[in-house]
Amino acid sequence: MTIPKTMEAIYYEKATSFKLATVPVPQFQPHEVLIKVSCCGLCGTDQHLHSGETSMASYPFIPGHEVVGVIAEVGSAVTGFSKGDRVVADPLVECGHCFFCLRAEFVLCENLGAHGVSITGGFSQYVVFEARKVFKIHNISDEEATLIEPTACAIHGVDRLEVKVGVEALVIGAGPTGLVLAQLLKLNGATKVVVAANKGVKTEIARKLGAADEYVELDRADPKPQWEKLKKDYPYGFDVVVEATGSAAVANDAINYVRRGGKLLVYSVYDPSALVQWSPAKIFIDEIKIIGSFAQPNCFPRAVAYLDSGKVNVKGLVTDVYKLSEYQQALDKYKNRDVGKIAVRP
Ligand SMILES: [Zn+2]
Ligand SMILES: [Zn+2]
Repeated sequence: MTIPKTMEAIYYEKATSFKLATVPVPQFQPHEVLIKVSCCGLCGTDQHLHSGETSMASYPFIPGHEVVGVIAEVGSAVTGFSKGDRVVADPLVECGHCFFCLRAEFVLCENLGAHGVSITGGFSQYVVFEARKVFKIHNISDEEATLIEPTACAIHGVDRLEVKVGVEALVIGAGPTGLVLAQLLKLNGATKVVVAANKGVKTEIARKLGAADEYVELDRADPKPQWEKLKKDYPYGFDVVVEATGSAAVANDAINYVRRGGKLLVYSVYDPSALVQWSPAKIFIDEIKIIGSFAQPNCFPRAVAYLDSGKVNVKGLVTDVYKLSEYQQALDKYKNRDVGKIAVRP
């Protein structure tokens, strides 16, 4: 493989304004590898970066944090990788010396950076990563491997939940992360998982994957009857409720499905100005735990193991694949929401 001097990449000068640019292929250090990108997943974070609704971004930059590719060059100090290895890459870059890093709480790093958010990402033909953040894949397709980063985040969510054996769980939202979370809950102690989501492509995929034991298909225009039925069917609610829609209104209501003594996982990208109104009396008397979970610290090895083994099933979850030159179409498709996972191939 000869490495060209320049490459194509999605390049943001500032929020909302990107172009398909020709830029130099990045240089790498002795402890780094150069990855030829074969596929990169697109998710809500990319939508927020596009619209500028995030504090983490530092423009100008190249987005793309769900990188899948092939090792093109190996730094002189790197061991364990060879040219041609198929890999995925953990986008997070912790500083290693702040208050939280010194407590090994890397996801809370005060200087947290991420490839595709504040550092050069993978909506490009080549990208450089530290070798310690790169992991080999064997059995899954490039498209399927775009789900490894979201799976790593979902694993962190399940870690945060500290699920007891035999719980009943409700996952609200059937986006790629919700469907992976539902499967992880089934594999890690839940006797029953119910997925509630808007009727459409997402719930069809959920069924195909066998992500849950039961499905509640919500009517977009009037979901009230379905919610009422769920309440009737589960008068004691659920030990675990996962809010994975990103809607503050749904998050607000989600607490009403938490069993006394249960837990609510708040798990999505929300409008930073959105608020919920929860009764402290209910949280007090019902002993409800409300848990947040953001990104993932060092969860990639387990995510690779779950997907490469097929134990978490993501077959058919990628519904739409675009070229780099079609990035705007990919963003538009994401916005219309009736879609599974979107991947971009350079
Ligand atoms: Zn993502
Ligand atoms: Zn730090």
